[in-house]
Order: sequence, then C-alpha cells, then structure tokens
Amino acid sequence: MVKINENFLKLKKNYLFIDIAKRLKAYKAENPDKELIRMGIGDVTLPLAPVVVDAMKKAADEMGVKETFRGYEDSGAGYDFLRNAVSGYYKSFGVNVSPDDIRINDGAKADCGNIVDIFGDGNTVLITDPAYPVYVDSNAMSGRKIVFANSNEANGFAAMPDYNVHADIIYLCSPNNPTGSVYTKTQLKEWVDYALKNEAVIIFDSAYEAFISDPKLPRSIYAVEGAEKCAVEMCSLSKTAGFTGTRCGYTVIPSTLVVTASDGSEVKLADLWGRRQGSKFNGVSYPVQRAAEAVFSPEGQKQTREAIAYYKGNAKIMAETLDELGIKYTGGINSPYIWLKCPDGMNGWDFFDYLLKEIQVVGTPGDGFGPNGVGWFRLTAFGSRENTVEAMRRFKELLKK
Ligand code: PLP
Repeated sequence: MVKINENFLKLKKNYLFIDIAKRLKAYKAENPDKELIRMGIGDVTLPLAPVVVDAMKKAADEMGVKETFRGYEDSGAGYDFLRNAVSGYYKSFGVNVSPDDIRINDGAKADCGNIVDIFGDGNTVLITDPAYPVYVDSNAMSGRKIVFANSNEANGFAAMPDYNVHADIIYLCSPNNPTGSVYTKTQLKEWVDYALKNEAVIIFDSAYEAFISDPKLPRSIYAVEGAEKCAVEMCSLSKTAGFTGTRCGYTVIPSTLVVTASDGSEVKLADLWGRRQGSKFNGVSYPVQRAAEAVFSPEGQKQTREAIAYYKGNAKIMAETLDELGIKYTGGINSPYIWLKCPDGMNGWDFFDYLLKEIQVVGTPGDGFGPNGVGWFRLTAFGSRENTVEAMRRFKELLKK
C-alpha cells in the first residue's frame, strides 16, 4: 500500500488569501457598485521593459532557425552569458561573486523550497517570524524541527541571533517580505558570526534587493565578510524586472562554502546542489535567459530602474500618509512593502474588514504571516500611482483623529 508523506497532513492550512478572496466576494455581492482598490497583492503590475521584450523576441526567432536553434543547455546551471551578466551586476554594487558560483533558475521560490533536499532531516531550522511561508512549509514537509526568531516592534521587525538557541539552517530575508525591514551590514555580520559559530548555513533571500537605494544598506549577504563561508543567496528577477510571469532567478553558493559530512570528509555545498539540480532540473529556456541578460545591460538597468522608481514613489506616498496620521510602520523606503500597526488595538482581520467596509481599500492582515504579525497589516506599492494616491486620500479621511 502506498504510504504518503504524513508531514503534509500536519501542515498549517494557509487560509490567508482564500479568506481574503471569500470576504471580497461577499462584499462585492452586497455592494456591486463599489470599486475596490487592491493593495494586498505582492505581484507587480507594470509590463516588462522594452529592451527585455526585444531580447526575448530575438531569441525566440533564433529558436526557429536550424543554425541557431538550442535544445537542452549543457551545464543546466545557466548560459555563461547570463551568469557573467549576474556577476557583473553584483560588481556594480561592490560585491564579488564569481560566475562559477551562480546557478540560473526559474524563480527564487522553487530554490527556496528545493534547497532543503541537500540537508539532512535532523537539522534544526531557524526562521524569522513573520516570514514568507515557503521557508516554514518546505521544512515542515520533511518534518524538520523549526525554531522561530521573533521580529517585532521592539526590534524594528529585524530579529537578531540568540546564542542560547542552536540552529543548523537559518533563513533570512532582507528587504523582508512581509515587514519591509532591511538588515544593516552590522546586523547581518551578527548573523554571519552566529552561523559560523554554530557551523550553520544561512539561506539569504534577497528577492527585493533592487528596492534598496540607501548605499549604506547591504544588497547582498556577501557584502559581509565571512558570508562566503556560510551563506547561500537566492535572488529573483520577479520584482527586480517584473519577471513574475516570465520566471527567472539565480542562486549563489560560493565554492568556499564547505561543510563536514558524518565521516569527517569535507563537502562543497555547491557540489551537492549541482548534483541535486542535475538530477531534478533541466534549466531555464533560452529566450528567458536572453531576456534576463537584457535586464543587466546598461539600457536594461535604465528601463527596469524606472519601474522600481515608480513603485518606490508609491511607497513614499504611503509612508508619508502614515507619518501624517502618526501610524507606526516599517518598510516603504527601501522596500515595496509597508507593514503598519493596526490603529486602536485592532487585529489584522478587524482592520481588513474596517478598511473594506469604510473605504474599499484591500490589504493583507499580518496575522497570516506568523504569530508576530498579529495586529499588523501589509500594504504593497505594486499598484498604480492613481490608485495609491486615491487609497491614501481615503486613508487620511478615515483615520485622521
Ligand atoms: N522570496 C520572497 C521573499 C518573495 O516575496 C517572493 C515572491 O513574492 C519570492 C522569493 C519568489 O519569487 P519568484 O517569483 O522568483 O519565485
């Protein structure tokens, strides 16, 4: 008789977006004339940059010609042209990452989940809470012990290591989804020191690095000395260049990241990951890799930065509104997320219903991202300027004392 992975039965049901959809449906049925402004979804809304579309079309044409057609890519790690471009991108903000240490993928979510394959089930996993759900779910699926580090109002939603707690695998996300908080270099150094002391590995999710404009804030964990010995970094073009529907990202595992096997032999983590990917992943399509390469060209950077500036403009409008209203929040400056404290002691769902009923603005209750999210609320800057301005006008009208 087949045996299922019973860990799946223990997974917490993620009702958040289903509950939101249900409440919106009920509200729309009762109020068909009311226009909703959605500020809850973490997907981008602006189209791909023209230079990216041109590169993808040109590559698609190449695929239709015998002489330039491409089948499987030999290495499965990504074409050299793209790995070199990613390495050059890192260099542009002062970080050295060798093209040999980069593997191209079809987005960060899959690698964030799949990386667990190369770690034993006996590891203790540390995850900051609140968190992007894939870190918890993918480890719960293999029955690993998970401990949480609290990100809360007192620490500015930037949990720091506690040497009384042991961990073997540590998930960090900066700029953070959902809280928008960004670790400083000093804070990341503390995590790197903790990881080295515990002989642990950090999985660093930098999916929102492109939103950092403060040059003092690190856009990569490799800006911190010692990270090359203990950290894996996962990034994505989803938010950097609007690739949520195009699918491309990259994972960095430095060749200097060496772990010890139970027989005492030293193993390069990158070799394990290469072996895993070689068995289970067949690479990213050629047109998508050409499109991704275009993102890192000078023209691609110019065009994609315009979209980011637009979203950041929205975030600024939201932050200014909350400042004016005296509402506490994190994020918004170097992040597309604003994480605000619900007024008058409301919990996230009360505030959700209140905003929906009174001003028809939709956000995401923080409760869905973990226990530290209770009483907090996430808004995103990925909407249109017009909607953001209108939503904030309604916010002011409703919430000014
Ligand atoms: N990491 C974080 C923190 C995210 O918020 C997201 C998507 O929202 C991802 C990774 C996944 O991105 P991708 O589209 O590359 O799979």
